[in-house]
Amino acid sequence: MRITRIETFLAPPRWMFVRVETDAGIVGWGEPVVEGRAEPVRAAVDVLAEYLLGTDPLRIEDHWQVMTKGGFYRGGPVLSSAVAGLDQALWDIKGKHLDVPVYQLLGGPVRDRVRAYAWVGGDEPSEIREALTAQIEAGFTAVKMNGCGRMSPVATRAEVRDVLGRAQTARETLGDDRDFGLDFHGRVSPANARRLLPLLAEYAPMFVEEPVLSEHMDVMGDLVNASNIPIALGERLYSRREFLAPLQSGVAILQPDISHAGGISELRRIAALAEVYGAQLAPHCPLGPVALASSLQVGFTTPNFLIQEQSIGIHYNQGAEVLDYVADPEPFRFQEGHLVRTDRPGLGVEVDETAVRKADATGHAWRNPVWRHTDGSFAEW
Ligand SMILES: [Mg+2]
Repeated sequence: MRITRIETFLAPPRWMFVRVETDAGIVGWGEPVVEGRAEPVRAAVDVLAEYLLGTDPLRIEDHWQVMTKGGFYRGGPVLSSAVAGLDQALWDIKGKHLDVPVYQLLGGPVRDRVRAYAWVGGDEPSEIREALTAQIEAGFTAVKMNGCGRMSPVATRAEVRDVLGRAQTARETLGDDRDFGLDFHGRVSPANARRLLPLLAEYAPMFVEEPVLSEHMDVMGDLVNASNIPIALGERLYSRREFLAPLQSGVAILQPDISHAGGISELRRIAALAEVYGAQLAPHCPLGPVALASSLQVGFTTPNFLIQEQSIGIHYNQGAEVLDYVADPEPFRFQEGHLVRTDRPGLGVEVDETAVRKADATGHAWRNPVWRHTDGSFAEW
């Protein structure tokens, strides 16, 4: 079997798909994208495709080695995301070729279903309460919400109270049998994080995510020790090497994104590394159906897997939705807040190719919002 064609498709709201075709008629799909930087990733896929065309798609590990190391310069979000999407497509092809789900090729299932959390939007307590109630009614046992909006480098008392108010609303609405994660989104400075974490402990969040930007790894150990709240991070880290320092700092939950951190091949290695430190995997995934399906394949076969992010029906997907690009939504139907394992081959997702090609005809030019502080200086989004 040989790879005969590699195509990319820009798809709203802010995604990209790659389609890898073989001379055996088997087609694999992946999602190589950096949100807000899709075009450079598309160019990187084109460069990697020069190497892949004409080769055997079943040699996934060898391709991964060449794609990540063969260009001399390594790493970073653009290259790692291009590799990630192609890696997903190769696993899809291999599974379809052997007529087994990818999780069977990774050692077989260790669980029957994967717990997922839903996003909760809103800023006012009444909005948050309403959104939380809707997710409880939809059957979710865990949610995630932003801990704050734009925040001053040294927070005012009111800004601190706002964060605590959100956590209190979440805990009161959810009760003690459901969980909530609080995402600081890298918006919070080390000084603010040190102040907030001990105050949040009484609401027992499941985790605080990106308490500070991952570039502040030198203070992460202090933040782990600042409270008893599990610290989660990793959506802006791209290889197992980058996950070593947070694990050594005591970070409890790793959140690599299967479309940024080298695909299925690297995600399972990050999970194995986390297992050495007693840490859990909770993959980041605000992307489309192929990224989610790929993440689920890892979830079904990873012992130290905690929970899966997903964005089905989420408020911030404007213009298109996860299920718009699948021919059959069944693998993405929630049961009691879980996604259930199927025995469909490959990634287990049937991409609606017509919808994907149609989406690419319009494409998108999604960019991250740029936020500013009240004095006009740049603020983290
Ligand atoms: Mg996040």
